[in-house]
Amino acid sequence: MIDFHYARANDIAAAVHLIAADPTAKFIAGGTNLIDLMKQGVEHPSRLIDISRLPLTGIEETAEGGLRIGALVPNADLAYHPLVAQRYPMLASAVLAGASAQLRNMASTGGNLLQRTRCYYFYDAATPCNKRAPGSGCSAITGLNRMHAILGTSDACIATHPSDMCVALAALDATVHVVGPAGARMIAFSDFHRLPGSTPERDTNLQSNELVTAVTVPAQGFAANHTYLKIRDRLSYAFALVSVAAGLELEGATITEARLALGGVAHKPWRDPAAEAALRGRSASQAAFARAADILLRDAEGFEHNTFKIELARRAILRALTQAAAGTPQSQSSKKIA
Ligand SMILES: Cc1cc2nc3c(=O)[nH]c(=O)nc-3n(C[C@H](O)[C@H](O)[C@H](O)COP(=O)(O)OP(=O)(O)OC[C@H]3O[C@@H](n4cnc5c(N)ncnc54)[C@H](O)[C@@H]3O)c2cc1C
Ligand code: SF4
Repeated sequence: MIDFHYARANDIAAAVHLIAADPTAKFIAGGTNLIDLMKQGVEHPSRLIDISRLPLTGIEETAEGGLRIGALVPNADLAYHPLVAQRYPMLASAVLAGASAQLRNMASTGGNLLQRTRCYYFYDAATPCNKRAPGSGCSAITGLNRMHAILGTSDACIATHPSDMCVALAALDATVHVVGPAGARMIAFSDFHRLPGSTPERDTNLQSNELVTAVTVPAQGFAANHTYLKIRDRLSYAFALVSVAAGLELEGATITEARLALGGVAHKPWRDPAAEAALRGRSASQAAFARAADILLRDAEGFEHNTFKIELARRAILRALTQAAAGTPQSQSSKKIA
């Protein structure tokens, strides 16, 4: 038996008040990750604060022409919302690449951001893991590390962030809106997740007493030229070995704006402004795509079982950009790219 208290928050102020009063409490939304972690003995919250009834289930247009997505919008509702499907198909595609239909019905937007790594050792409470038990060591560095990171790793942790949705949100330059005892604040998506450094137990820059209320995406959705490409061991119900979110704006064959984010390779969605700058002003060509891939992967370093990810990521970037440029996401290119 796991002994914990349960409380349901009826409004945002109550949710923040309850979490601030108990530093060992946790919010629960869809429960698709947290309950597993509790069953595995990884998380031990003294109290679960149920936020699933909070009025954060809306998707609305913002004054700036973007979208505000409530933290409790289920992944399925997000992917199939007409405004998301039409204006942000890269985001819809990334969400639908994750988990299963049943899980997507339960999983929330906020919970997806805060889901924890799928490192096998993190879930195995009998093994050393700095993320689960700080200071105990990292079993993956010398153990089985096929799924692990090739970028932004540290001597303390080489885990990856498992989300698909977050890779597209990173590429779209989203913003995370949070509320805590000190009030509301916004966090740029690139600053939300952290690299492991010497504190791998902290996945994000969210404070433990803060509630995610919404995610906003700006107007630019790359609807015409985008792709979300997920490479995995099975075609469904598997986490990414490597994934790529690519968005391009084109004037004729010239790239006027580019976004490129990788999943499955680091502790956070991986972007590099230099890789995107290398695409801007260039003609959409294999040479330009290869250069962007080289820049994005320039610091990549593999471990015993995952060095293959470097070449896999390079090829995935080329394919994703080729599909995005041709306007044929997730399918064979119908237009020829030089
Ligand atoms: C078998 C399986 C396969 C999966 N495959 C994929 C996949 O391929 N791709 C993918 O992206 N995901 C995948 N997932 C993960 C799934 O998307 C996440 O479990 C889900 O998004 C978490 O959302 P939730 O609402 O259930 O979160 P919960 O489990 O309720 O919470 C997760 C964490 O978020 C915190 N939290 C939740 N909401 C808030 C909030 N508003 N503010 C602050 N903290 C909050 C909780 O305290 C908890 O720490 C898979 C999950 C399973 C079980
Ligand atoms: S990679 Fe990170 S999560 Fe996995 S065992 Fe090492 S410290 Fe733990």
